[in-house]
Amino acid sequence: MWQAEVRIDLDAIRDNVALMRAGTSAEVMAVVKGDGYGHGMLPSARAALAGGATWLGVATLDEGLALRRAGLDVPVLAWLHSPGLALHEGVAAGLDLSASSVQLVEELVTAARRAERTARVHLKLDTGLARAGATPAEWPAVLEAAAKAQADGDIEVVGVWSHFVYADVLGHETTDRQLAAFADGLAVAERFGISPRYRHIANSAATLTRPDAHYDLVRPGIAVYGLSPIEGETFGLRPAMTARARVAQTKRVPAGQGVSYGHTYFTERETTLALVPLGYADGVPRAASNAGPVQLAGKRRTIAGRVCMDQIVLDVGDDQVSAGDVATLFGPSDQGPTADDWAEVVGTINYEIVTRFGSPRVPRIYDGTAGVTS
Ligand SMILES: *Cc1c(COP(=O)(O)O)cnc(C)c1O
Repeated sequence: MWQAEVRIDLDAIRDNVALMRAGTSAEVMAVVKGDGYGHGMLPSARAALAGGATWLGVATLDEGLALRRAGLDVPVLAWLHSPGLALHEGVAAGLDLSASSVQLVEELVTAARRAERTARVHLKLDTGLARAGATPAEWPAVLEAAAKAQADGDIEVVGVWSHFVYADVLGHETTDRQLAAFADGLAVAERFGISPRYRHIANSAATLTRPDAHYDLVRPGIAVYGLSPIEGETFGLRPAMTARARVAQTKRVPAGQGVSYGHTYFTERETTLALVPLGYADGVPRAASNAGPVQLAGKRRTIAGRVCMDQIVLDVGDDQVSAGDVATLFGPSDQGPTADDWAEVVGTINYEIVTRFGSPRVPRIYDGTAGVTS
């Protein structure tokens, strides 16, 4: 018997990837960073591969190493490295590693020599996000260092890549400017003798809406999990995560009863309160106090009072609700509120809602067979 659970539909992950795969001639890198956006990195990765992804993408070296330890031997790109990491372990594991600076290219040369293996490198150009990546001013120096290291046999430049600012806003001029800057960066790379097999810039939004940005490889993350990067459009994606819990207790209370810490909610009349055992330690944002939607006994309710660490309370009026009934916080739209509904009331994005539901306290239950080997 479960008290609270996060259910993950692996077949939905597979189908979401297959849908994007069918929409492009590029290869698909399923992004599984952040513990698969809260869905579990390894099962999500396997389901995505079953859907036709040929690459996996992660932020950190450790995430990449964890994929290898689990026996996943497909190409994996890990892209966010502070100086001084054990990059040789990544090289030895055959991970593709991103470099945005001369310093990192040099570290990768050292790592390659230590691992006695050519390092597979993706050079990152900052085309406007001003996050990771070499600025256009720094780009030639990075290319020069990389070209030399490649000639020496220490590295192989497998990719040149960048990341969008505004792909989730259809037709935003920044996207066009970034595509032009990316094309310029690729042309400069050519002049240094670098013509990578993989040029890539498209996240989920660009994968779904900008075929002209697909190049050789697309890098969808959120869409893999069935959530849309673009408000009001679903693209036929199926949300993979459902968060729910069984009511722990119900009680009748009189009118005027204050509910939960600080009594920020008062009952209007005699009513039934239902206690749902999920709280902010489990991923429910505290900002959803008096706002978060929950489906219970066939109706959509709103959290009454503050979200606590372990629990929330619903005011269900005179509806028939008993301890043990299932309350659904979010999931596919036919089952109640969605992660998008939660994002809206909390003032965040669906990405953060699902990624927060990765607490070890709530068991993740996997449905479906995609990527499951017996
Ligand atoms: C997270 C991330 C992605 C995936 O972005 P989505 O918007 O989830 O598709 C792709 N590339 C990079 C560099 C990222 O950090």
